[in-house]
Amino acid sequence: MAADAGDVQPPLDVPESEATRARDAGLVAAIVDALPSPTVVLDPDGVIVMVNRAWEQDGRDHGVAIRPGADYYAEAVGLADDPEGRTLVSELRELIAGLRTEVSIDRSMPSPGGGGGRLWFHVQATRVGSRGHVVVTHTDVTARVLAERASSWQARHDHLTELPNRAHLHELIDRELQRPDRPAVAVLFLDVDGFKTVNDSLGHEVGDELLRQLSARLLRASRGQDTVGRLGGDEFVVLCRDCDTDGAEVLAARCHAAFEEPFLLGGRSLRLGASIGIAGTARGVRRGVRSTDLVRDADLAMYAAKAAGRGRVRVFSPELRTAAEQKMQLAAELRDAIAGDQLVLHYQPILHLPSRRCTGVEALVRWQHPERGLLPPSDFVQLAAQHDLMPDLTRWVLRTATGQAVAWEAEGLPLIVGVNIAAEHFAGGTLVDDVASALAGSGLAADRLVVELTETSVAEDPVAAAAQLAQLRVSGVEVSIDDFGCGFSSISQLMSLPAGSLKIDRSLVAGADRLTSQSAAAISAVVGLAEAFGMRSLAEGVETAEQLAVVSALGCTFAQGFHIARPMAAGELARWLRETSAERYARSGA
Ligand code: C2E
Ligand code: MG
Ligand code: MG
Repeated sequence: MAADAGDVQPPLDVPESEATRARDAGLVAAIVDALPSPTVVLDPDGVIVMVNRAWEQDGRDHGVAIRPGADYYAEAVGLADDPEGRTLVSELRELIAGLRTEVSIDRSMPSPGGGGGRLWFHVQATRVGSRGHVVVTHTDVTARVLAERASSWQARHDHLTELPNRAHLHELIDRELQRPDRPAVAVLFLDVDGFKTVNDSLGHEVGDELLRQLSARLLRASRGQDTVGRLGGDEFVVLCRDCDTDGAEVLAARCHAAFEEPFLLGGRSLRLGASIGIAGTARGVRRGVRSTDLVRDADLAMYAAKAAGRGRVRVFSPELRTAAEQKMQLAAELRDAIAGDQLVLHYQPILHLPSRRCTGVEALVRWQHPERGLLPPSDFVQLAAQHDLMPDLTRWVLRTATGQAVAWEAEGLPLIVGVNIAAEHFAGGTLVDDVASALAGSGLAADRLVVELTETSVAEDPVAAAAQLAQLRVSGVEVSIDDFGCGFSSISQLMSLPAGSLKIDRSLVAGADRLTSQSAAAISAVVGLAEAFGMRSLAEGVETAEQLAVVSALGCTFAQGFHIARPMAAGELARWLRETSAERYARSGA
């Protein structure tokens, strides 16, 4: 049955002479030989009647020489008895029978070199002549396939830790949820406590190294059947297969234990912790549960764990979702409240200690909620930040506070007014313009406005901060660093800012009932630091006459606190100022 190349027919069915046939066969052989891809010509029985030079070379390279006379079909299936081989053979048969016009198929086979590698070929076959001969070319596409596989791997993994990324994690969790044989699935959501501080104070490279070390620790802490992935930032998710929420709590404890050893980063040894949220499918009620639901619930539980204090674990419960929905509702209401003038400012007097006179006030925002009553900033300031409402809120506060200062001035009460600026507003880059337009709108002199920024808001991007603060300073507005002493930012970084005053955090003042206390020593150090940098200092949260006496004796320039006065509405403040004589403070303490 072996045929030879002479059987190959030219495409046109016209009577031919022997000489013509021989010439055409020679031409076909030359053409086939010239093809760069390994090529064979098959007769209608699938027997190889001709091979080209590239095919022979390839055979030598791979040690699988298949020569004319061999049964290509048998080899195609036999090389790797796989569905791909059978598909190729059946498509070739259809081609020979004239049932299709070409065959174009990718097939792989084990690399003859062994080692588990594979080769990929693109097989392209075309019919030639009327009797069913076919030319089959084999293009080696191994490099392309490997590159595609690598890029698909990269698309599914996080480049920093090489863990599955968000998209891939969701895929894996969904796949797990669809398995009827698994009674329970749980998801653990882990967020590093204080990661931002590490990143901000030690730099992103150190932050990256921390994430790499942590991913290795989490892999060790998890079980073989779990998948650890990174959602982004410092958020990790563990897919706990075949595991209910009780089992996930055990795993969470092991993840916490992974933080016991300090992390060695940039020559320092850092102790860190994490907050963990858990969500799982209850037995038998996973129908319709999607990965996005489970991860969102675990995220909510993580937030609740973090809010309860760091280093905790919380299992999701439906009440958490209700609370989250209420927050969403509150955020929507807050948006309307800012536009609809439901916010109010209360003002807390600031006492100038050397003169014992109230020279200024701090504007503190409240929300007069139609149903819930007067809400303190702790109920909505963070919410405003989370929902991108901070710039609008701050612009409202700036406008109202500067307007109020002008009104007091008209009443003969020239007060300096302090306004709190949140990190989010600061990072937005509009601070200088917003302050300028509030001053222009109200007509308040720049030196009557103080903007208060916290250590952390400045620490986020100290370079951008310094630039904006310098512009404010030039315009005559004073910059004050709020809550100083409760953050972890580097003192040198803070001191490089063009700030005019430091507000010493309440936590330091609280313990300063005696001059010999540790808190008094700390305050004294901060006052000295402020003086060395040409800044004034303000003691916040002065609640007792003793504290007032101590902070005065330590040389603070200003004091503010419930002992002097609580924050109050603008109308009350004028009365308070008239009724309170400065001598009261002179008598009460220092
Ligand atoms: P803060 O800027 O450090 O303001 C001082 C807070 O301490 C005020 O709380 C004030 O009522 C309270 N306080 C004053 N004296 C004492 C005292 O002797 N003892 C105690 N225990 N507390 C005292 P408030 O008004 O609840 O504000 C809390 C925080 O909310 C503020 O801290 C500030 O960070 C933020 N905040 C307030 N108003 C605004 C605002 O308009 N914009 C922004 N971004 N944040 C604001
Ligand atoms: Mg403040
Ligand atoms: Mg403060």
